[in-house]
Amino acid sequence: MDGKFIKSYKTELELIDFARKYSINRLGFDKDHAFEKYDKSIYAYYFVQWSPRFRLKIRWESFENRREAKISASKKKTEGYDVYYRDVEAVGNKNLPITKSLLKCDLAEIAFTVPHEKWHNYAKPYSLVFRDCEIIEEACANAIGFNEASNIVKELYGNKSDEMKDVLLQLDSGREASQEARNIGEELNHLYKSKLDEKEMMKLKKIICKKYDFEPNNASILETYVYDALFDLTDYIYTENSRKESIRIFTTALRTASNKGFRKGVESLLKHYDGDKEQFRRVPNVLHW
Ligand SMILES: [Zn+2]
Repeated sequence: MDGKFIKSYKTELELIDFARKYSINRLGFDKDHAFEKYDKSIYAYYFVQWSPRFRLKIRWESFENRREAKISASKKKTEGYDVYYRDVEAVGNKNLPITKSLLKCDLAEIAFTVPHEKWHNYAKPYSLVFRDCEIIEEACANAIGFNEASNIVKELYGNKSDEMKDVLLQLDSGREASQEARNIGEELNHLYKSKLDEKEMMKLKKIICKKYDFEPNNASILETYVYDALFDLTDYIYTENSRKESIRIFTTALRTASNKGFRKGVESLLKHYDGDKEQFRRVPNVLHW
């Protein structure tokens, strides 16, 4: 069964192997064992994220067992939090196996996921204070993931391939999502700081969420916020500089955030940005409770 399974994912496995070697040889990431072997016993990893209903704050926990994750999610819900549960194909881990759920992704997503996670492994020694580094680290991971996915796919399948079209769509929607994330974040932050009572606040929260096509659930909004809010900034840096220089700028920002906090980490990135810097200075650190 699994031999057959692996055979039917030949293209995916070849792409993963290519992207893994590409991340090591071209991006200079660690020669670790991430994405080396398929592990049939692991389907995916399970994330539970929770937020207070009227504050722009999020926390999360990851599980290897779906049942445990579901139990934790429903417990948080009964405690009154907005809860968001999802499974993920891969996590930053130097022994990360190839999961069944990764093989089931489309090729554009795979080409994105491998350098994204390999960056996390590489960034670990720079990113010492989780709550100050997480948003910066994810924005860097997405800039590397989306941009390198297009290089990987171009090399493997050509500039005019369908896979290339998928990658470019993926990159465009990432860029669109970034501005949207900052906008909904600002509107909600403004609302939560108001003196309205809960009922009134809930009404307005629903209106704002509907406008941006989100469920009125802080945890699901902030889950994307963590990845998207600074993406425009890291994407700009990655596009304007050589990849080696960009990665140096990213690790410097993480080290700065580790030593001096989230704000200083963002400022370190902003030294390399020519546009409107204020929009990024207004991004709150939603992981800092
Ligand atoms: Zn990530």
